[in-house]
Amino acid sequence: MKELEERIRKDGKVKPGGVLKVDSFLNHQIDPQLLYAMATELKRLYAGVPINKILTVEASGIAIASMVGYVFSCPLVFAKKSKTINISDDVWSADVVSFTHGGTNRVMVSKEYLGAGDCVLIVDDFLATGAALVGLKAICEQAGATVAGAGIAIEKVFQGGGNRLRAEGMRVESLAKIRSMTDNGLEFEN
Ligand code: 5GP
Repeated sequence: MKELEERIRKDGKVKPGGVLKVDSFLNHQIDPQLLYAMATELKRLYAGVPINKILTVEASGIAIASMVGYVFSCPLVFAKKSKTINISDDVWSADVVSFTHGGTNRVMVSKEYLGAGDCVLIVDDFLATGAALVGLKAICEQAGATVAGAGIAIEKVFQGGGNRLRAEGMRVESLAKIRSMTDNGLEFEN
């Protein structure tokens, strides 16, 4: 998506360790018009798929996923992170290693909000190693829900997670795909 690529080139900041900061429009300050355009593009890509629920993980996925829920006219559910291992029986859960923070979070979704019969689009701001997507997919599988696919704002292709999941048969649509990223600049993949 050209508009997103241009915004990343203009405002994205490359940090050590393969981290891209997009705090001025996606992760701290939010640009609602850009997010609306991104959600509309995901709606075009998933046209005809009977998606009735959007699933993301807190916190940074919520802004884009909320806009996607609006455009798809369906609820957004976000998996909550918990540091405790004492979780109730009323949740679906998975352990996810955080790419940006290093630690492991158990992420959970109340059984009340996800179940068999749901057709889910998993949405996130970034796709790097794929750990967050794998965890959210596992939660859908526990719930007996169908995963229609993933809708990602920014995929860092060089970290391999997206192509590994595609090779396993998952549909993964990313609006900007970064092939390489150095202090000298970014290269996008078509
Ligand atoms: P993965 O689980 O695919 O390794 O990483 C995806 C998650 O880590 C996303 O939910 C996102 O919040 C965070 N993340 C991964 N890479 C980046 C990055 O370069 N910049 C930012 N801001 N977040 C990232």
